[in-house]
Amino acid sequence: MRIDAVTIFPEIFNVLDVSLLGKARESGLIDFTAHNLRDFTSDAHRTVDDSPYGGGAGMVMMAEPWALALESIRSSAATESTEDDDAAPAPVLIIPTPSGHVFNQKLARALAPEEHLVFACGRYEGIDERVYEWAAPRFRVLPVSLGDYVLNGGEVAVLAMIEAIGRLIPGVVGNPESLVEESHEDGLLEYPVYTKPSTWRELEVPEVLLSGNHGKIARFRRETQLHRTAKRRPELILDIDPASTNRKDRDL
Ligand code: SAM
Repeated sequence: MRIDAVTIFPEIFNVLDVSLLGKARESGLIDFTAHNLRDFTSDAHRTVDDSPYGGGAGMVMMAEPWALALESIRSSAATESTEDDDAAPAPVLIIPTPSGHVFNQKLARALAPEEHLVFACGRYEGIDERVYEWAAPRFRVLPVSLGDYVLNGGEVAVLAMIEAIGRLIPGVVGNPESLVEESHEDGLLEYPVYTKPSTWRELEVPEVLLSGNHGKIARFRRETQLHRTAKRRPELILDIDPASTNRKDRDL
């Protein structure tokens, strides 16, 4: 997967050099580039923001540097593609914003098979709204929020999204089985997990997990999954498909 991020702080993305995503980059599974938005300005101060029309606090990111940066990414992608790729879909342009669709595991799964993702990291009061409109014929534009709170910039949100999406690309996580039994994969939170020693500071691992009885262990895990989800995230229970829950529970 090719991933480009446009930002005024490219160094924030240095963390993508380490751990599983670092290895995925080394092996070529993920081709990531951070672009400095200031490289697409034309004044001596490399200005990317100006005051908002209509007044109000803060500054707004100007449209032109964004158009130049995104055009440059778009044309480099077109140069890379072969004739066979002529019908290839436009890259997905993800614009992190607290007013976007909330990012979740389902969206991460939907984006993982894409060939090219572009992230536009806003700062200040955000990006001139006309950039969304300008980008629409050139990209598949997706405004995405990490959650119902406000960050200083889009970079941390983009790092979280790259990690969630990147680990779903085949080969990035060594054992694909570990991706299946995770929180949010089947609409529920994960069951509690334990490792050695079985007694630690007078706290015991639930006995059933030491029993070797796979049926009982599966039932225990399912029950704790349902209990934990009902307690911590009751709204998730209402969202799960009753047919799938019944089928799964009948099999135990
Ligand atoms: N004035 C904007 C508003 O109220 O919607 C908030 C701007 S915020 C200070 C600056 C930038 O941080 C945004 O343009 C966006 O890129 C990023 N950001 C802040 N909160 C975010 C969130 N919850 N999800 C994704 N990106 C966020």
